[in-house]
Amino acid sequence: MTLTQIADVDFPTRWATFRLLGFEAHRADKVTGREISETALALVLGDYLSSPPIVRIHSQCTTGEVFHSLRCDCHDQLHLALRVIAENGAGVLVYEQQEGRGIGLMEKLRAYELQDQGLDTVEANLFLGHAVDARDYALAVQILRFLEIKSLRLISNNPEKVQTVLASGIEIFERIAADVPHNAHSSRYLATKRDKLGHLSRESSGPIANPFLRGNRPAHGALLPEATGDAMDHTPEIAASLGGD
Ligand SMILES: [Zn+2]
Repeated sequence: MTLTQIADVDFPTRWATFRLLGFEAHRADKVTGREISETALALVLGDYLSSPPIVRIHSQCTTGEVFHSLRCDCHDQLHLALRVIAENGAGVLVYEQQEGRGIGLMEKLRAYELQDQGLDTVEANLFLGHAVDARDYALAVQILRFLEIKSLRLISNNPEKVQTVLASGIEIFERIAADVPHNAHSSRYLATKRDKLGHLSRESSGPIANPFLRGNRPAHGALLPEATGDAMDHTPEIAASLGGD
């Protein structure tokens, strides 16, 4: 994969003034072998290399992020990540154009039609001939390498993202849960992600606090879930990866 930085601009938002980096990558398609190009954004805040930065790898969701759809948790997870990064003064959000777990917007809408008829999100993707999750995070990992990040705090409930980052050689100092409130429209979708895709989300209906604002910011290498609150979690894999730290 070749990665090119296209732009680096000041990017004021309601949370903080980030740097917005644009990237373009070229690589061979895994199936056809043809060269494909893809783009992604990185919102970068503060001195993110002074300690393991908070990082979110987020996939585009037009229905959730533009129209605030209640069918999924993408909008709330994106805002949670930006808020936590801003409140901590440093971090990185990588935003990839992998709509609908990589199947694209129109196919996602087709899958929604099938879900309206009773299928769950996994069954709908398979019915349409797609992978259950067609995303890959190679571009995100390339961007993290470009930013010289060797260790990070990953905001994610997705075990595949965790495994991809670990497999790339980047250390996950800790995982921060990306739990957001569910609603009547999203609860089945979130339950399917938990039950069939192994997502680590917990059922929650209340507001999610920033774990780092409760004091006792964990020292390097420490596992302090009780000191950092309900929104923090550690998988056994991650705990293992911290063993020699
Ligand atoms: Zn969504």
